[in-house]
Amino acid sequence: MKLKTLFGPVPSRRLGFSLGIDIIPFKVCSMDCIYCQLGRTTKKTVQRQHYTPYDEVLDEWDQFKDTIGQIDYIAIAGSGEPTLNSYLGKLVEKLKDRASFPIAVLTNGSLLFTRELQKELRNAHVVLPSLDAVTPSTFQRINRPHPSLSIEEIVEGLRAFRTRYKGQMWLEIMLVKGVNDSPGELEKIKDALQRIGPDKVQLNTVVRPGSEGEARPMRFEDLRKIQRYLGKGCEVITTVSRKRKPMREKDLEETIISMIRRHPLTISEIIHTLGRKRKEVITCIDRLHDGKMIEVNCHQGKKYCKVREESLVSHGIS
Ligand code: SF4
Repeated sequence: MKLKTLFGPVPSRRLGFSLGIDIIPFKVCSMDCIYCQLGRTTKKTVQRQHYTPYDEVLDEWDQFKDTIGQIDYIAIAGSGEPTLNSYLGKLVEKLKDRASFPIAVLTNGSLLFTRELQKELRNAHVVLPSLDAVTPSTFQRINRPHPSLSIEEIVEGLRAFRTRYKGQMWLEIMLVKGVNDSPGELEKIKDALQRIGPDKVQLNTVVRPGSEGEARPMRFEDLRKIQRYLGKGCEVITTVSRKRKPMREKDLEETIISMIRRHPLTISEIIHTLGRKRKEVITCIDRLHDGKMIEVNCHQGKKYCKVREESLVSHGIS
């Protein structure tokens, strides 16, 4: 069965092993971040619409659920900003009735100021918004937002959401060298964090291939310094180190394609996640590469595998 909305399970540095759910067409987003691993935003919008219907996701879930094995989270994310799908609330509510795994929603946080979305997210176990900048000029530079978005309104939306939402809120800051790491920006971010009060603050940097050459990674020691500066509840995201049980019988090529459909992964990460022999996985990756299904790109000295855009379209797996 070809899956359209479910992908993975994939190793996630924030959520362990998670089964992804993609509910947004490529690439619809309210922002166009310089570090986005998906590439440039093709439809920049703040209008919520009925994109992937929730019953389509639930049908796939029903057919696929027995093959998943043990995962840490179901992660609603995908090819853009998932909160732009106005079926989101219904999906979280229905999925919670069927699945025994916690549900996480990843978002850029840009629409959290709306009461409608705040209500829709109340059934999620974890909401993971991002906040990369607080000054308007840095916000424009790093996130390239839709013109109607204001960073003041976004910060206020995060604060209001935190006061109403009963689940966990893990806020991510993506730090890009020379863009949002100045002392002045960090001071304002720290002040905003105190007002918002997330359960965790997770510092991240550019580790996968992004859309712009300007998006340069921070050094680990600098992330640690910023972690200490931001204080209690702040952590630096590290690589996934846990081994996962081997998945049940399933075609290896399809599994690998599902894992790297939207998310570039290193060969080691793929081997780690599948729990299969290195030689077997590398042979399969070579085969997919020779058949032009996937591309392998070098970034920061590591090789990342990703399904080629042309293959997504021609094989109807977009
Ligand atoms: S990183 Fe997230 S918010 Fe930024 S452009 Fe990509 S999908 Fe949109």
